[in-house]
Amino acid sequence: MQSHTMELPRLIVIGEKNISDIGNFLSSLTKPKKVSIMSGVNVRKIVQKKIDKSLKSKKIKPIWHSVLGNEKKSFTELEKIVRKDKSDLIVGVGGGRAVDAAKMIAFNQSKPFVSVPTAASHDGIASPFVSIKGDKPHSIVATAPLGVFVDIDIIKKAPKKLLASGCGDLIANIIAVKDWELGRDKVGEYYGRYAANLALMSAKIVEESSGVFAKKGLDARVIVEALISAGVASCIAGSSRPCSGAEHLFSHALDKLAPGIGLHGQKCGIGAIMMAKLQGQDWKKIIKTLKNVGAPTTAKQIGLKPEQVVKALTIAQDLRPERYTILKEIEMTRNKALALAKSTKVI
Ligand SMILES: [Zn+2]
Repeated sequence: MQSHTMELPRLIVIGEKNISDIGNFLSSLTKPKKVSIMSGVNVRKIVQKKIDKSLKSKKIKPIWHSVLGNEKKSFTELEKIVRKDKSDLIVGVGGGRAVDAAKMIAFNQSKPFVSVPTAASHDGIASPFVSIKGDKPHSIVATAPLGVFVDIDIIKKAPKKLLASGCGDLIANIIAVKDWELGRDKVGEYYGRYAANLALMSAKIVEESSGVFAKKGLDARVIVEALISAGVASCIAGSSRPCSGAEHLFSHALDKLAPGIGLHGQKCGIGAIMMAKLQGQDWKKIIKTLKNVGAPTTAKQIGLKPEQVVKALTIAQDLRPERYTILKEIEMTRNKALALAKSTKVI
């Protein structure tokens, strides 16, 4: 039997207005004396004072770093600077970029890392994987967070479209798990039922709650818990497999063709609609769920041109040939891509 490694977060705290407890949290994890904190410029303005005060009470010295770009080059430069901190722990405070940077830098320096998401726009907040925009845009292995610390109050104050985007990233799991089953059946790939079911459950919770969300607004806590569960599913699988299938390849293709347009979860949601149709799943239900949570269902809504969607569909599988998805079963010609996007009203 093949050996299989699972690296899991040790402590997960989800609270409300609890940012001032972060010193306690870090102290209970590793008793650090010095921590390097990666954060976005805007997030830093909101939380730095509270975090610094909390860390001071535990005699922890913070060294703050602003994360500006998300290209490989800027991460490499940042890493050189952070290395000089000689800190005990790397903390990522922010939406996507800062957490990704912390994860990556911690992995390269063999240091523990803690995730403090301030927005819930994707499942990277608790997953061990990070995708760096470079030559190959798909996720590369990094390290599971030792701890995840969430202040729901901060998440709630982030723009609504970020939470909706998180829902899109969760809905993607419906496609990803089906693709994983396909990989198991067609090429004998390792398939973990526990990880698959956990990932699927986090998508189903959003699907089932979306009607209520449409009436009463998005429940940040439910979405954050689902995103963390999805991240843990990736930890258990030892790969991004349960949360990343053909819809993610489509999103990665758009990263390449139309950089900077649309959020990750928005693109995965739109991709999920089309891939669901290819897989013979209920794609109309996916549209309904996305609409209920306020996530886009058409290319136009996020500023993508029809041609970019068509092109992305045709190149998606080639970006990661070893990942078996529904796109392996179909020769995605221009005409087929156009018909698929049109029939699902994406374009
Ligand atoms: Zn994702």
